[in-house]
Amino acid sequence: MKKVIFLNVCCLIVCLLMARQVYFQSSFVNKESHTITSLSSSLRFKDSSELNREESGSNNQTRSHPRIAIAGLGIESSTFSPALTNEDAFHAKNGADVFSSYPFLSVDSPLRNKAEWIPTLVGKSLPGGAVTREAYESLVNKTLDALKKGGPYDGLFFDIHGAMSVVGFDDPEGDFITRIRKVIGKKTIISTSMDLHGNVSWRLAENTDLITCYRMAPHEDAMETKQRAVKNLLERIESGKGKPTYKAYISIPILLPGEKTSTRIEPGKSIYKAVGPAAAQNGIIDAAIWIGYAWADEPRNHAVVMVTGDDKEKVTKTANQLASSFWNARSDFSFVAPTGTLNECLDKALASNKHPFFISDSGDNPTAGGAGDVTWTLTEILARPEFKSENGPSLIYASIPGPELTKKAIAAGVGGHTEGYAGAKVDARFAPPVWIAGKVESIEYGDKDAEVEVVIRVGSVHVIVTQKRKPYHKERDFTRLGLNPRKTDIVVVKIGYLEPELYAMKADWLLALTVGGVDQNLERLGYKRIQRPMFPLDKEMENPDLSARMVPSSNNR
Ligand SMILES: [Zn+2]
Repeated sequence: MKKVIFLNVCCLIVCLLMARQVYFQSSFVNKESHTITSLSSSLRFKDSSELNREESGSNNQTRSHPRIAIAGLGIESSTFSPALTNEDAFHAKNGADVFSSYPFLSVDSPLRNKAEWIPTLVGKSLPGGAVTREAYESLVNKTLDALKKGGPYDGLFFDIHGAMSVVGFDDPEGDFITRIRKVIGKKTIISTSMDLHGNVSWRLAENTDLITCYRMAPHEDAMETKQRAVKNLLERIESGKGKPTYKAYISIPILLPGEKTSTRIEPGKSIYKAVGPAAAQNGIIDAAIWIGYAWADEPRNHAVVMVTGDDKEKVTKTANQLASSFWNARSDFSFVAPTGTLNECLDKALASNKHPFFISDSGDNPTAGGAGDVTWTLTEILARPEFKSENGPSLIYASIPGPELTKKAIAAGVGGHTEGYAGAKVDARFAPPVWIAGKVESIEYGDKDAEVEVVIRVGSVHVIVTQKRKPYHKERDFTRLGLNPRKTDIVVVKIGYLEPELYAMKADWLLALTVGGVDQNLERLGYKRIQRPMFPLDKEMENPDLSARMVPSSNNR
């Protein structure tokens, strides 16, 4: 390995000395080694200045690969949850580690070879409560420091979710990109990729050049979207077309939970199906519709349509069409599954002959921003007489964090009896910690979120207790604990719409409108700061002005 590095470094120096025109071969760019990176970045810095001069018109023959930075933070955080999110929740990746988040940028992949990439910091957190100001400042400053060191840049791939809340602070993503602009300047083309549950403030729209979001919920096209953001960025740089001439923006006064806006069912299905063809038109670069994030109380939280391109008429018309199709369908959105109170759902599941019967414990869905430790639902289940006996209908409850109880379970060992309290450390507004007493059925270590997971059997209920909160989205999440959800009568999961594997496994499904930080009953949340009127909170509101507004170019920032 050392020999390879040495040879590459030598070759690089020879190339630079001999030619002064540097065509960075992919083999140099892609073999990550700190030696090469640190040496070549200082050398390429000079090269990129040449590139800037060349772009200003002096010489067409010294063109090198474009220099593209990567940065971004992603979290969906609820201001209605008492939970707080700290820096370590973002599992920030730095430098070359960032590539592992993007399979389309793997070594020797076509896109990887088209540019000189300068990954800075990318952090992704599970959804949760608002991010602390300290965590936000620390992550942003680390990103800005890395960007300062690696510049200048032709482009930036800005990979964010768009629904971050920071304690006592509005529009973090708008703040973040503004501070990035101060470091990288106006010339760099920024391509922003987002979740469709993110929010697009006017400030974010002004500072970015290209912008897009997922077209599917559940987000089966997440990686495809990020790849499109990168491809569009490269295409605009390589072709010399640069920033889009037009960015149309339409704010739509609709705020709906994700569980009503799945693209698997109408009207979300048709509305989003139109986005791809809209974006494929000549004169249009991309088109996107954001549902927005319902569990944060900020003026920027609402649906948005954006279309970017060079043909003013098409950009405007397309944005208007997408926005009116969304507005016109507003009354047709309903929950992705039949809903009910918890007791109604349990009654139906117990009476049904379809198993496994899934019930979403949706109010505390950790992947929407719930604390994940609300005990209300589990307390109600354990109190039901049907589940008191070992021979009762089998039910899996996934899951409740209880670090002390997991320790006790480990001490008791598999087959032993354990008992103790779990949950309600973060969100005790609806119920106190729940008492769990029963037989330890399994103990597993090493999950990246839960760290330790134990299954405790109480009557006919298998309760998954974790050291830290964890979403249960895959069949393997259950089977690795020795549970067989396919052979279980009822499976209750802290989740909203069922993720694909669970959806495929279910014989039937109900969405329980339970309490928590991401209560699906938005009227119970008590918004104070979102813009009004807002559908469906203000049911009698008049038709809004849905004409496209042109966002000023980032050159004018
Ligand atoms: Zn989402």
